[in-house]
Amino acid sequence: MDSAHGYREAMCRMIAVMRQPGALRRILVNAGMTVAVLGAGPAPGAVGLRYDVYLDTLDAARVEVRCEDCSQLPTLHALSNAAVRRLQSTTLEGWALHEKRLSPAAGQKRASYVEAFHGDGAADRVITGRSKAVLVTDPREWLWVPDSWSHERPLEVAFHLPEGIEVATPWPLVRGTDEHYTVVPWLRHMDGAVVFAPMTRRAVPLGEAVVRISVVGAAMPRADEYATWVVACARALADTFGRFPVPLTQVVVMPVARAREPVPFGHVVRGLGNTVILYIDPVATLAELQADWTLTHELSHLAHPFLGEQGRWLAEGLAGYYQNVARARSGVLTAATATANLQRSFTATAKEDDRGPIDEAGRMRTYWTGAVMALDMDIQLAAAKGRFPSLAAAMGEFARHNLPSSRAWRPDDYMAELDRLGGTRIFSTTYQRYFASTEFPPFAEAISRAADTFTRQNHSSNALD
Ligand SMILES: [Zn+2]
Repeated sequence: MDSAHGYREAMCRMIAVMRQPGALRRILVNAGMTVAVLGAGPAPGAVGLRYDVYLDTLDAARVEVRCEDCSQLPTLHALSNAAVRRLQSTTLEGWALHEKRLSPAAGQKRASYVEAFHGDGAADRVITGRSKAVLVTDPREWLWVPDSWSHERPLEVAFHLPEGIEVATPWPLVRGTDEHYTVVPWLRHMDGAVVFAPMTRRAVPLGEAVVRISVVGAAMPRADEYATWVVACARALADTFGRFPVPLTQVVVMPVARAREPVPFGHVVRGLGNTVILYIDPVATLAELQADWTLTHELSHLAHPFLGEQGRWLAEGLAGYYQNVARARSGVLTAATATANLQRSFTATAKEDDRGPIDEAGRMRTYWTGAVMALDMDIQLAAAKGRFPSLAAAMGEFARHNLPSSRAWRPDDYMAELDRLGGTRIFSTTYQRYFASTEFPPFAEAISRAADTFTRQNHSSNALD
């Protein structure tokens, strides 16, 4: 399907991925050379427990837990049911497993458990069969946590990896180390992503934010090109929202076997930190990647909080809107093309004549109702001449105060907070109107003003200092 329309099957499984039972995904790709460059993240607070993860092959890891500042190890809790199932059939040293708890033998200073990364039938994606594997794990399957885990008492995780294998995490580095990370409970109930593979890694500062880019396996020889593409998309988002919306993001670029489009699939994973995983056609040119909307769509999701299943239409609408607005802002699209893309999607959605509550709507209405709403808000905000000249300015300000967030936000709470920050009622009243709609909203008048709206935004700064 035409990727500019934004509704192909593989578009964005952000919600679907979050609902998966934390399946461990094992992906085969071609291997290549290894170069590692990694930037530091924010400085950590006091560290609680330390975990040493020893990986000899991509089949299993031994996780050793140490406690430096307590007389004995605390009881640990599973973060997922898969974690419990996994440990029922593996080796425990110094621990006893009781339902969802790991209890230490008295007086232990350290104890370990072995995570077997195979035999669980969870492989969901075999891409191309030559040579080494890539292991995509949900850290909630192998990280058992104490009650004391908090933002003030992060966990420390250190990796010990075989030659040629690197790790990609969404976690800040412990200052002065190269493979020790601090982990805090951002959205601890959702899937996360830690990837082990041959890869090149780099960290790119964007203002005060850092985007960590990991390029896996066969894609490694073109890592510079992929980084150019990722950084340009991230910069377009930063320009749109006044700054990059979260302090640390990892983007993992995975090659697939030849695909029909440059980026056949991408998704956002938010558990324990923000990750965007992109599957790319390895023969796509840089120009083809730059013309694709998927990465901008996924990065746009980082500019709003997780909005739950009830807010899925809002989340997808915002990302569908900003995949066009941000690319118009960066000059990849003209304002006229961004408008034409939206109009085409809106027209196709209206033709479906999908009726009923918005949170039970089909794919097209779910994806595009929120985009009409966002455009409507932008037009109202420009006319009101209040604190926020645009929805993006409001979202950027929200992000500065609230993201990343440890919790899901109810959509109406999110809108109320935008109103509060802006001293307005535009967000809540407009949101309620669209939420109450039982068919795709009228959009002709808004679309007729879209190009002007985008052009005006392109010439104003959304930075609020
Ligand atoms: Zn999406």
